[in-house]
This record gives sequence, C-alpha cells and structure tokens, in this order.
Amino acid sequence: MKICRFTSTAHTAAPRYAALDESENSLRPFVGDDPFVSDPALEENPIMLSQVNLLAPVAPSKIVCVGRNYKDHAAELGNPLPPEPLLFLKPPSSIIANGEAILLPTQSAQVEHEGELGVVIGRMARLLNDAADPLDYVFGYTIVNDVTARDLQRKDIQFTRAKSFDSFCPVGTFIVTDFDPANARIETRVNDVMKQQASTSAMIFSVAEIVRYIANIMTLLPGDLIATGTPAGVSRLSDGDFVEVEIEGIGVLRNSVQSGAAASVGTSVRAD
Ligand code: MG
Repeated sequence: MKICRFTSTAHTAAPRYAALDESENSLRPFVGDDPFVSDPALEENPIMLSQVNLLAPVAPSKIVCVGRNYKDHAAELGNPLPPEPLLFLKPPSSIIANGEAILLPTQSAQVEHEGELGVVIGRMARLLNDAADPLDYVFGYTIVNDVTARDLQRKDIQFTRAKSFDSFCPVGTFIVTDFDPANARIETRVNDVMKQQASTSAMIFSVAEIVRYIANIMTLLPGDLIATGTPAGVSRLSDGDFVEVEIEGIGVLRNSVQSGAAASVGTSVRAD
C-alpha cells in the first residue's frame, strides 16, 4: 500500500492520511484519520489526486538520523567507521514536501544533499528485547533528503545547527508499506547528473538493528521518522538546482534549491 498525507480545498482543510489507488489516480482517506491502528479502514468515497495538495507523508514527534551508515560515505568525509550507530536528531520543523524548495541559509556556504531511505514507525517501540522483531514496529518506508550545512557541521562540535534549518528535511511523497529495505537501489541526482548511487545492502547497520538500537534509547512513536544514512557522493547545492532522490520501489523525491533571500518572497510554509 502507498500512503500519503494531503489537504484539499474541496474536502478537508486539515491534513489527512490516505491510501493511493494508482489505477484510479485517486486517494481514499483513512477512517478516523489513523493509519497506525492494527486494521485501518478506508473511507468509501475516493478523492481524485487532481483535487488534492500532497504534503510530506509524516508529522513525526522526532526525526532520528543515523550518521556514517555507509562505508564509502564515511571514507569520503575522512571519518572512521562507527562501532555502533551514530545518532543525531533533526527537528520536525525542518520537514518539507516533495516539490517544495530547499532554502539555502545565509549562514552556510556549503549546503549538501544526502539521499536516504526513511523508516516510518507504526507502533510504539520502547526497550525492545532480543525476542522482539524490530521490523514489527515499522509501518513503512519513504524517501528522505538529509540536507546538511557541511561547513557548519565541521565547525560545530555537534550536528544540530548543520542539520536543522527550515526546509532541510524533504520527505515523501509516499510511505510504501510492502517494501524490502535489505536491497533497494538508491540514487541522488542534481540537475539530472548522477551524484549518489548505491544499494541499501551496503548499509553498515540494518534497519532492524537501527530500530532496536534507537528504541532502547528513546521511545519511538507511531509516525516517527528514521533516516538511515547516506551513501558516498554528497555534493554542494546551489541556487536554482533541482535535486532528486530515487529509491527503487518507493519513488522519486524532487526539490528545487533557492537562496534564502530569494525564497523569502512568495514561499509558503505549511503550519501543520
Ligand atoms: Mg545523513
């Protein structure tokens, strides 16, 4: 199943979750607007895709990111391989949808893309013991661009400023529930030029290992988002660029890049 969040001037001003019917180009919203219950039901009446505004597919309480989870990316930045997952957080306020603009902040001269597989949590996960299967707590998978101000990441002792600017977390468009994260092609292109190309099989820590590791530190809630790390090939983004992250079996996440000053005029920022 492919799941999204949307608003529609004809149907709902508030964001809602819905399932995609690809053959009909339509959506069916979830009854009660909760896709995370054990047996979610869909409303009878479809809404045509042409009538909706698609949002980022998650409204997480937190975005947990894994750094240096591909050997070749750790090497390109001159970092040693971590003996256990290296975690950091991005604020939910950094999320933008497919099609929205990544805004280049004036504080940085080196903003880079990081195409990543996103994991969406479906059930509360806390203190998972060895008998628990961490994948039972995964709702589905999406695409994340962990946009990073590389110069600020190097300058600061930790990652918070470099990872947290508004618009630094494009996500979406869909959450795919029947997806195998073990071996999927992931690519990032800038202006149609290939920059990152890898398989998720090259991850140092698997999705199951990551979910268990995080859940034994902090409670993961339904809708929480995990960004699983980026392969080699990160590069600088400039005003006017288009960056696309594609994951086989999920889709393409496409965002333009605008300088902060230019983007401050006429850019809407969602309040949800
Ligand atoms: Mg990253």
